[in-house]
Amino acid sequence: MLKSLPRVSLGCWPTPLYELERLSRTLGGPHILIKRDDLSGLATGGNKTRKLELLIADALQQGADTVITAGAPQSNHAMQTAAAAARFGLQCVLVLGPRAPQRWNGNLLLDRLLGARIRWAGDRDRYTVMEEVAAEERAAGRKAYIIPYGGSNAIGAAAYALAMDELMRQLVQRGTHLDHIVFASSSGGTQAGMVVGARAYNLDGRILGISVDKPADAFRPVVLELARLTAAFLDLPLEITAEDITINDSYLGGGYAVLGDAEREAIRLVARTEGLVVDPVYTGRAMAGLIDLIRRKAFGKDETVLFWHTGGTSALFAYAEGLLEG
Ligand SMILES: *Cc1c(COP(=O)(O)O)cnc(C)c1O
Repeated sequence: MLKSLPRVSLGCWPTPLYELERLSRTLGGPHILIKRDDLSGLATGGNKTRKLELLIADALQQGADTVITAGAPQSNHAMQTAAAAARFGLQCVLVLGPRAPQRWNGNLLLDRLLGARIRWAGDRDRYTVMEEVAAEERAAGRKAYIIPYGGSNAIGAAAYALAMDELMRQLVQRGTHLDHIVFASSSGGTQAGMVVGARAYNLDGRILGISVDKPADAFRPVVLELARLTAAFLDLPLEITAEDITINDSYLGGGYAVLGDAEREAIRLVARTEGLVVDPVYTGRAMAGLIDLIRRKAFGKDETVLFWHTGGTSALFAYAEGLLEG
């Protein structure tokens, strides 16, 4: 058992877990299970809902009336934060960058509908701009709470340690054992939390983060440090080492948020075999990685791989032209 943490309710739990039989058959691969955190139930959903249940609770405890966070123009995290703020009557300022795109679609459209104020960072460091916005809010008599990129501090990551309890219960109910968990990893909070939760709940099976934007050697220390901070935050006396952090950086493609052939193929394949939507930036890239690993026979046919769907659905609509190519 993990210690209980202040938590608000933003999502619908547990998120569904089921088997992607047709995808598995099409690829001649292992058993593939999917965990649908894209159906988390906050706006269009995603992995940030879990993190925000703890982060918003902390913000409220500190007496904040405004939350500030930052990200790319199509940030799912920014959109989820705007939705979470709306649920609790908090003001929300999003520091996005660098510049406003020509079309306000996808998550950016939702940010506006959800009532967030948007500040474009230009070429300036987004953390510096967040601090400036917090000072302006203070000067206006409000109290701001800054949420880091991706909600990835020990508080946000702890939510994915707790999510491992939810997963374990579902696996026990199905009588299923897992060999691998595959998902998109970027600011590291999801992976750090999963690593801590797996240890806390004795879930065996390898946790394999598909890096979306960083070389493994640069990213591993970030996830390791965050996992250690998360364990400490949860009062868990775990020894976590670099061997616990498995990252595959073979699928960086053209860089962050650049839609390539691999993502396009993965998006179409899962749409057409499973009626399932993955996004161009995160889950489509991770799914492309999973498909490639299956084709390379990285998993045994009798093994079970869980694909953890982390969301991103609404970002898809900002890529319409690119998705219809080819
Ligand atoms: C943020 C995000 C991720 C990555 O999660 P991290 O905790 O930042 O590593 C993966 N998928 C989607 C859709 C996301 O929005």
